[in-house]
Amino acid sequence: MTGALGNMDDLYEAIILDHYRSPRNTAPVEEADVDFEVNNPFCGDEFHIQLKVENDAVAKVGITGRGCAISQASASLLAELVEGKSSDEVHAAVSSIRRLLKGEEITDEEADVLGDIEALAGVRKFPVRIKCALLSWVGLDDALKAHQTG
Ligand code: ZN
Repeated sequence: MTGALGNMDDLYEAIILDHYRSPRNTAPVEEADVDFEVNNPFCGDEFHIQLKVENDAVAKVGITGRGCAISQASASLLAELVEGKSSDEVHAAVSSIRRLLKGEEITDEEADVLGDIEALAGVRKFPVRIKCALLSWVGLDDALKAHQTG
């Protein structure tokens, strides 16, 4: 693959392509508690994200839609990460990811939580792709906040 992923480290590229080709948790969630759509018109990325929340933890997540390799892989990595996490843990992860993509330092502890998501750090070299990588995370953060207060 060339272009957007051109010079990315091989390992990172492998993780992203794996999630792009086989996205996780793509089944719609019945009676979702949190249900929202995100889109990035500059790239044509569009996702519908649904969560089932039980005892303030994400019990189930479903992501449907389509987008470029980066946005799709990012949404899939999100689906994998948030299951079983409390809303505080999800907020913390979103904060780590924002800093990671801005090129700021994250702690070893944060890196442990993110795991494979660190692969997204490669998009820092392609500023137009940062929006693709953050798309579903920012939407999730906002939707969870709305769910908690509403
Ligand atoms: Zn995109």
